Amino acid sequence: MSQRIRPYQILYDMLRLTLELVERIVTEDEQIALKSFLRNALKVFKRTLHSADQGKPVVGFHFAFPVEILYAFDVVPFCIEAIPYLMASLTPDGAEYYYDRIVAFGSPYHSCTSQKGIMGMLLEGLVDFDLMVCPTAPCDNTIASYQFFSNYMKIPLLISDMPHYKTERGYQYYADQLSHQMNEIGEYLKQEPDLERFKAAIARNNQAHEYLMEINDMRRRIPSPIESIVGPLITATTILLPCTEEKIQIFKDIRDLMAKRIKKGESRIGSEQFRSIWPNITFFFDIGFYEWLDRELKMSLLMDCTNHYYYNPINLNQTDFEGIIQELAQQVMNYPMTRQSQHFLETIINDSLWAAKTYQADCAIFTAHLGCKQVASAVQLVREALRDELGIPMLTIECDIGDKRFASIETIKYELSEFVKTLL
Ligand code: SF4
Repeated sequence: MSQRIRPYQILYDMLRLTLELVERIVTEDEQIALKSFLRNALKVFKRTLHSADQGKPVVGFHFAFPVEILYAFDVVPFCIEAIPYLMASLTPDGAEYYYDRIVAFGSPYHSCTSQKGIMGMLLEGLVDFDLMVCPTAPCDNTIASYQFFSNYMKIPLLISDMPHYKTERGYQYYADQLSHQMNEIGEYLKQEPDLERFKAAIARNNQAHEYLMEINDMRRRIPSPIESIVGPLITATTILLPCTEEKIQIFKDIRDLMAKRIKKGESRIGSEQFRSIWPNITFFFDIGFYEWLDRELKMSLLMDCTNHYYYNPINLNQTDFEGIIQELAQQVMNYPMTRQSQHFLETIINDSLWAAKTYQADCAIFTAHLGCKQVASAVQLVREALRDELGIPMLTIECDIGDKRFASIETIKYELSEFVKTLL
């Protein structure tokens, strides 16, 4: 077992067991996207464990940090926020022990589980980080939790200052921050950044992004040609497997499945009676929930804020590093969740209206995740905008996306079942 990143080893074993189980009990033509995710995630986890065993520096990164920059170095990238949520998806009690561990230590119960998981794991000595990198976004939880890593756990932390204004001046400021941060990482690790590797990582993300744009175009069709579980799978792939060939493969498999179904005039498994958009994020602690949504509730989940990217691929034909880093800065400032959480509320309101119209939704489901206080203040405004401009109702579910004890899956299913009665 790799002693330096034990959560990866634990999750590697869980991924392997889940894949074995899914392959045994699910017929060949079902859960194709889930199988692709599990197979490809296993490959990345194996590689990551091998790199950690070779002694490469382990760099913890916040999900909103452009991991392309880490690919310029010979390191083990470790996404802080992805690990507890993958654990929540694959095991009955997820990372609950670690949330409780850090709350008992003194962290507020209402802070975000995405960081609390790793905070608890650090108290248990499960990870040995050499360095951490983080932007000053998207939320107060991030800012507060990374102080624990830096001040209490004494992990060296490099921060890039992300401005609020999404203007040319704002993008240029953040591009300068990223260039500076790349130099700082190199100095800290005593490595020269390899710009060819950096560009190759961007090229892989570009290719995956092209597939995602096709997927999102096809998700507009009525009825939806793809199962609702694809939403959280795209999120997990984006934050767990960034810049990898495996990310490309997962998105390609989903694209191919959808294209095949459309060609044959088929829709997703289960019939579609309701079409929903989710302006915030979706749940991770019960992957079976999405099967219930499709088959029992007959509701398609067409998008959530973490799997529709409001930007284009980066132009790599330019030879100028400055131009590439500026486009990267622009992407990062519009990265899922950062775009909606770090900016003025008009962004999440306008994005929700755009998504509801584009995906021809007849309702919206807003997860008021306990950690996300910044978007909780948008709930009523989004509800009024959808109702007044499009005549679409919105259900708000108070929950913790990574901890089933806040709102159980039974409670969530009950709330949804009562809500759809009002749509009939
Ligand atoms: S934006 Fe919300 S879900 Fe994302 S890290 Fe912050 S509190 Fe957690």
